[in-house]
Amino acid sequence: MEFLQKNIEIVENAHKKSLKLFSQIDKIALINQKKVLDAFRKNAVQARHFYGTTGYGYDDIGRDTLCRVFADVFGAEDAVVSPLIANGTHALSLALFAVLRPGDTFISVSGKPYDTLDEVISGENIGSLRDFKVNFSSIELEKNGKIAADKTVSSVKKLKPKLVFIQRSRGYSQRDALSVADIARAADKIKNANPETLIMVDNCYGEFVEAHEPTEFGADLIVGSLIKNAGGGFAPTGGYIAGKKDLISLVAGRLTAPSLGNEVGSCVSGYLPYYQGLFMAPVTVANALKSSVLFGRIYGDLGYKTLPAAGKPCNDIIRSIVFNDKDKLIKFCQAIQQASPIDSNVTPEPWDMPGYNDKVIMAAGAFVQGSSIELSADSPIRPPYIAYLQGGLTYEHAKIAALYTLEKLNV
Ligand SMILES: *Cc1c(COP(=O)(O)O)cnc(C)c1O
Repeated sequence: MEFLQKNIEIVENAHKKSLKLFSQIDKIALINQKKVLDAFRKNAVQARHFYGTTGYGYDDIGRDTLCRVFADVFGAEDAVVSPLIANGTHALSLALFAVLRPGDTFISVSGKPYDTLDEVISGENIGSLRDFKVNFSSIELEKNGKIAADKTVSSVKKLKPKLVFIQRSRGYSQRDALSVADIARAADKIKNANPETLIMVDNCYGEFVEAHEPTEFGADLIVGSLIKNAGGGFAPTGGYIAGKKDLISLVAGRLTAPSLGNEVGSCVSGYLPYYQGLFMAPVTVANALKSSVLFGRIYGDLGYKTLPAAGKPCNDIIRSIVFNDKDKLIKFCQAIQQASPIDSNVTPEPWDMPGYNDKVIMAAGAFVQGSSIELSADSPIRPPYIAYLQGGLTYEHAKIAALYTLEKLNV
C-alpha cells in the first residue's frame, strides 16, 4: 500500500515529538530487563525446564521453576503461573474465589471492576461470588482519577473487608491507569485502617510499564493474563497470580484441588514460550508503550481527545481515543486489522461477546488469538465511541498501522 505524503509527515512529526518519552520508556525497559535476567540467573533456568509433561505433572520442574522466576521478577513470595488458566478473567475469578468465603465482604476502590467480572461478582445462579454469599461494594475514583482515600479508609474501618480490589489499568473506562505509587499510597492507608484486609491488584496491562510492581509496595496478590504484557507476545495462553505464600497456596488449591495445589498440572507443549515471553516482555512492553505514545501524539494533534493526554507518560499500555462517531471508531479498528500480520484480509464488525453487555468490535490480527500485547484495538459500541488501542510487538509495526488508520479515516 502506498501512503499519502501528508500522512507520512504526520507520523514522522509525531515520532520526533515523542523522543523524550521514548527515552524514559527505554530506561524503564533496561531496569526491568535486568530484573528478569537476574531472576532467570538466580533460578538457573536451563533447557530442561522447557520440556513438556503429561498426565499428573508431578515434579514438573518446568512449571515449578517458571513459578519461581515469576515470583522473583514481581518481588513476590510465590506465584502460580499456568497454561491451565484460560485468560485474565479466569485468573481474577480464581484469585477471588480462592481467598473469599461466604459472609466475607470485598470492596473495589477503583470503581466498577472490568466488564468481564460483572457476572463473576454478581451474576445470579451461575456460581458467582454473590451466589456464594460474598458481599461486594465499590467506591468510585475521584474526578482526578485517583483513589478516594478518605472514603476508602472510612469504609475499610466500617466494613472490615476481607479484601480490597484495585484495578491498575483503565479497562474500558475513561481514566488514566493508576500508578504503582498511587496503589502504594492506598495500600498503606488501607493496611493502617485494618491490617487484616488483603489487597489484590488486577495487574492486567500494567506489568513492566513501571520499574516496580504493586507486590513490591503492599499488594498481597497481583493477577494478570499471559496474552498481555507478562507473556511478552510468546506465551500462547495462560495467566498468573503472584503474592503472599499462604494466599498463593489457596490459589493453587483452587486451580487444581485443595491439597493438590501446584503439585499437579502438566503442559504437553512445554514451557519454552512462557520463559521466552517473560524474557522478552520488558522490551515488548516498551514497544507497546512507544506505539501508544505515537498514536496519542498523532490523534491528539488532530484534535481528538486521547488518554493519557498526548505527551503524557503512560501507566498502562492502553491508549484510548475518543471518536464521538460510531463510523470513525469502526473504521479505525478495521484499519488496525487491515495492517495486521495475521488475518489482514478479514473485516471486524461489532459483535456480541461473552462477558460483555454491549456489542464489541475487536481488531486483533495476532499470532496468538486475541492477544492484546500484539497491536490490537477493541471497543464496546457505545457513546462516546472510544477506541481502546493497545500492544505492538514492534514499534515499527505500530508506525505503519498508524498510517493505515490515517488513510482509512481520510484525514
Ligand atoms: C484484559 C483485562 C482483564 C481480563 O480480561 P481477559 O480478556 O479475560 O483476559 C481484566 N481486567 C483488565 C483491566 C483487563 O485489561
